[in-house]
Amino acid sequence: ADDLLRVAELVRSVPDYPQPGVLFRDITPVLAHGESFATVTTELAANAGEADLVVGVEARGFLLGAAVALVAGVGTVPVRKAGKLPAVAASRSYDLEYGSATLELPAGVVEPGTRVYVVDDVLATGGTAAAACALLADAGAEVVGFGTLLELAALNGRAKLGDLRIDALLNA
Ligand code: 5GP
Repeated sequence: ADDLLRVAELVRSVPDYPQPGVLFRDITPVLAHGESFATVTTELAANAGEADLVVGVEARGFLLGAAVALVAGVGTVPVRKAGKLPAVAASRSYDLEYGSATLELPAGVVEPGTRVYVVDDVLATGGTAAAACALLADAGAEVVGFGTLLELAALNGRAKLGDLRIDALLNA
């Protein structure tokens, strides 16, 4: 618990980023602090126990997801923003406050029936996590949980994830 308090202290709140009125939670200092990086990785990996694979969501989800996968003893696959992958298995668009975004799953690396744990740094409105889970469902995978460093509970991202298990180490 003390370890998580230290992690919480390292999350930096940045007003008016990326646009006026938004309070951005910057987790960069958590990753930069070795003990805290180990704490969050170990905690999330403990929740990934039944998974065959960890999927990290671009871009900070890659950093956490790869570390969680290594500790959990499984592989990792990136879910990427549109246009970055040479071969795409599935693609999903979702609405942002202004405009939309598309996420893509790489071809040939997620077999049907794979049990997947999805990792991202922050759960905000839930659109990103929901799109990542939908992609995996498109590929025939079974998403067993979603792990995140920080849940912005007031934005109610959980509502977009149905009854999926959500492991949030911190709430803000
Ligand atoms: P959502 O789709 O849940 O609204 O937003 C979550 C996605 O946007 C995640 O990929 C996350 O990295 C990013 N995001 C949204 N708000 C924040 C924030 O305050 N801090 C950080 N670090 N990422 C955020």
